Amino acid sequence: MIPADTAETQILDLVVPLDSRRDCETVALLEASGRILSESVVSPLDFPHWDNSAMDGYAVRYEDVSVATKAKPVELSVVEEIPAGKSPTQTLMAGQCARILTGAMVPTGADTIVMQENTQRTGDRVQILSAPAPRAFVRQQGAFTQVGDRLLSVGNPVAAPEVAMLAAAQRSAVQVYRRPRIAILSTGNELVSPEATLQPGQIVDSNQFALAALVQQLGAVPLCQGIVPDDPAKLQQAMATAVAEADMVLSSGGVSVGDYDYVDQILADLGATLHIRSVAVKPGKPLTVATIAPGTPPQLYFGLPGNPVSALVSFWRFVAPAIRKLSGRRGPWSAPFVTARSRQPLKAGGKRETYLWGQLYATSAGLEFGLAQGSHSSGNLINITGTQGLAVVPIGVTELAAGSTVRVLWMGHDLQTT
Ligand code: AMP
Ligand code: MG
Repeated sequence: MIPADTAETQILDLVVPLDSRRDCETVALLEASGRILSESVVSPLDFPHWDNSAMDGYAVRYEDVSVATKAKPVELSVVEEIPAGKSPTQTLMAGQCARILTGAMVPTGADTIVMQENTQRTGDRVQILSAPAPRAFVRQQGAFTQVGDRLLSVGNPVAAPEVAMLAAAQRSAVQVYRRPRIAILSTGNELVSPEATLQPGQIVDSNQFALAALVQQLGAVPLCQGIVPDDPAKLQQAMATAVAEADMVLSSGGVSVGDYDYVDQILADLGATLHIRSVAVKPGKPLTVATIAPGTPPQLYFGLPGNPVSALVSFWRFVAPAIRKLSGRRGPWSAPFVTARSRQPLKAGGKRETYLWGQLYATSAGLEFGLAQGSHSSGNLINITGTQGLAVVPIGVTELAAGSTVRVLWMGHDLQTT
């Protein structure tokens, strides 16, 4: 049994990310949301593209208006009106100004904007009632970024702000990593699919669906391989097929020390290297991590525990970081931990790092953890719904009092507010 942090580090070291040149595709800009860039994007333009006005007002030569006051206004002649989108046609000479609107190009000769509120307009003349600061309200060409500057890098996740910027940089399509394919198979003679009529002793294969949903949430494609009985020949066939079709394989069940637990032996028969067999966590102690090399790079194989909660917890703690890295996403890839005050006492056995599930509340006093009511058995799927975080009780600790500060693995979902 190795500690959880050691396991995570070891797993991340084993992951070879997708190749930014080979494993990529071009997608339309809107399709890029939620994907990972496989190209770096350089600005084709200066931002702002030209000096423009941040206000509705008048574009002036600062030297003309530097002494203006309400008592002694400076009067200028208005030679042009420049709304946004119009290219100015005149160069301002001494004593001249241009009516200008927000976002419009500042005309040659002007260097400062006087806001409309500090002016008095009469026909084609305007009085400037107070001196502006030099260059006031001029957004200078290239002040935000300049042509040739790097805007985004390989590995950058694309969300709404990146889509906005890419649109502004006139990119209607971008190159992103293809979605990694993750094969999922469930092992166990007792398992049936959800639509089956349950016979005594049978168990519905919930892990297939849980793992597929988790894989999807990370932007990867689940390849659901279905249920495989505890039959070494059939299991070996199914595992080999999964390895051949996917970038990474997740199986659940069959990694414990029971009579029907064949996964580790079959991995060895398939020529895999077993790196991890159990981790000091609860739930989720049996965890097989292997690499198998039908091609290059070798693929990662996770043999997850069969208990439904153990499978979920193992995914959040160990598989999600691996998929993040595999996807080409820039780091950090580790499971994200926050600190929160626990609303309830948290109890554990003390021998393994224990994860207790519940809700995270964003309060004015900071984050708080609320323990899910009911059994924290690794077989209880019922009270794990709505989970936003897993509170960690460290090895050697059997109880954390209510009000204690705890580390919480945050699922990244929306938080509660009350
Ligand atoms: P195992 O690790 O194969 O011994 O399985 C441990 C427990 O998890 C047993 O009670 C199984 O019935 C249950 N289990 C295994 N696989 C699944 C699955 N795919 N969906 C739901 N429960 C499962
Ligand atoms: Mg089993």
